[in-house]
Amino acid sequence: MYKTHTCGELRASHAGQKVTLAGWVHRRRDHGGVVFLDLRDRYGIIQITINPNLSKETLNVVADIRFEWVLQIVGTVQKRPVGMENPNMPTGEIEVIASGINVLNPAKTLPFMVNNGEMNEADENTRLKYRYLDLRRERMRENMILRHRVIKFMRDYLDKQNFIEIETPILFKATPEGARDYLVPSRLYPGQFYALPQSPQQLKQLLMVAGMDRYFQIARCFRDEDQRGDRQPEFTQLDLEMSFVQRDDVLAMVEGLYTAMIPAVTPHKRLLASPWPKLTYKDAVEKYGSDKPDLRFGMQLVDVSDIFAKSDFRVFQSALEAGGVIKCLVASGCADTSRREVDELTEMAKSFGAKGLATLAVTAEGPKGTAAKFLKVEEIEAAKSKVGAKEGDLILFAADQRAVVNKVLGGLRLVFRDKLDLADKDVMAFAWVVDFPMFEWNEEEKKWDAAHHPFTMPKMEDLPKFETNPGEIQSDAYDMVCNGYEMASGSIRIHRRDIQFKIFQLLGLKDEEIQLKFGHMLEAFEYGAPPHGGMAPGIDRLVMLLADEPNIREVIAFPKNSGARDVMADAPSSVEPKQLKELHIKISD
Ligand code: ASP
Repeated sequence: MYKTHTCGELRASHAGQKVTLAGWVHRRRDHGGVVFLDLRDRYGIIQITINPNLSKETLNVVADIRFEWVLQIVGTVQKRPVGMENPNMPTGEIEVIASGINVLNPAKTLPFMVNNGEMNEADENTRLKYRYLDLRRERMRENMILRHRVIKFMRDYLDKQNFIEIETPILFKATPEGARDYLVPSRLYPGQFYALPQSPQQLKQLLMVAGMDRYFQIARCFRDEDQRGDRQPEFTQLDLEMSFVQRDDVLAMVEGLYTAMIPAVTPHKRLLASPWPKLTYKDAVEKYGSDKPDLRFGMQLVDVSDIFAKSDFRVFQSALEAGGVIKCLVASGCADTSRREVDELTEMAKSFGAKGLATLAVTAEGPKGTAAKFLKVEEIEAAKSKVGAKEGDLILFAADQRAVVNKVLGGLRLVFRDKLDLADKDVMAFAWVVDFPMFEWNEEEKKWDAAHHPFTMPKMEDLPKFETNPGEIQSDAYDMVCNGYEMASGSIRIHRRDIQFKIFQLLGLKDEEIQLKFGHMLEAFEYGAPPHGGMAPGIDRLVMLLADEPNIREVIAFPKNSGARDVMADAPSSVEPKQLKELHIKISD
């Protein structure tokens, strides 16, 4: 038997017991002949005391022991002498007095220390190269455990709600979610490829056609996207689908799950509101400048176009003449923002698409800021009262096309969130965003794209707009948002062949192409497909937020680096010419 107990479970009540433990050397201290080792395993850390009365042989072994050696210790649990207890350790009241030490495996000097929670001492590529060491850190271990708890909770909860977990294939056919596919060449069928699913979307719908009624899966999704921001080539979703449901049935199910889960897995996190607020896409964008608003703080965008309809300020005039709008937001207590800081804000506004940024500081000496001298007193007063600005506040104006203005102010809103520390990280501000447009115009390719995915049901009352104005068609799609992140997308699906066919046509697919790519879906819809809908909350991002981590790599055991490489195994990598030949592949350069 390697061990009788874990390193984390021993307490004062075990005093006097003979135990065998196994684990890693977390720390070592030498104190006038006595050596203290902290022995660590997944469950905790315990102090091992090695007295000089052991055999010479044993003491020689001890002399060599270094960080992260794997040891087996036989010893007796003993209460620590009064005054020597460590209240910061769950095992701090006791120590194990070693009688035997068995080195199970020594360790080389590690490329970085793992015995503190912080990760600052190693750059990320080093951490990823030695991920198996990185995961020994307490913080990473806690992240893995939290992830497990989250997934376990989901499974148990959904099981109670009559969902069944069904696995769907990884080798499949292209399932569009707006990204590039990962392709797998076929050895048996020269020139043919499987596609890794960008999501199990088609398969879960087919499970509804199969009568499974309530399905879920902890599903891996594969999307070959440019690695901007916090993305991974593969990520995990809680994929779910339900039959005979309307939008609010799906939302209630997922809201129920999350509302029960958050306090169970992270009791220190609070939900901002219950039931969760529901915003239309339009309202979210108009009020917060984003379809994934952070609702932990106010600072809403206000339209002041009417106030400046006759303004002499050129910037405002020309925006309105071009059919645009003027909107603003108020940064509370920021009237003293320096010229240099305003310049920085202007640069940020430009990076969000603005041509410039106008500011107005409300001060005891009167209005200041870049717009002050161009605006009439009555305009300033009207604007102040409409937006509720008080002395000491800074008003930021953007004037441009509506979409640009919303994006710019939405971006600045988040800049101020971080600058002024407006959002509590322990608050989870979940909300639903509903009534999305069905299509987005792709200016580059001059065609309509599906705003969610092509299997989303358009609002029935909008069907006549197919012929006249597809851009105005709304869909039965919805997003779950939290703290400025999109946490899930979903929709009521099309279950009728004729509508699905029309959508594909509108997306620019030729009839033969539709048949080739999605013939199986269209055919399935002809064999009694029930009305159905679902969604797919991301698990990586949820655990990231719950663990207060800055990116999803910290909550994935073996992530790719920001350049989409696995630096531990060094993948992707070249393969043998023989393998390529079998796959009928020639590398062109
Ligand atoms: N398949 C969708 C996605 O991955 C989610 C859904 O519509 O259920 O975003």
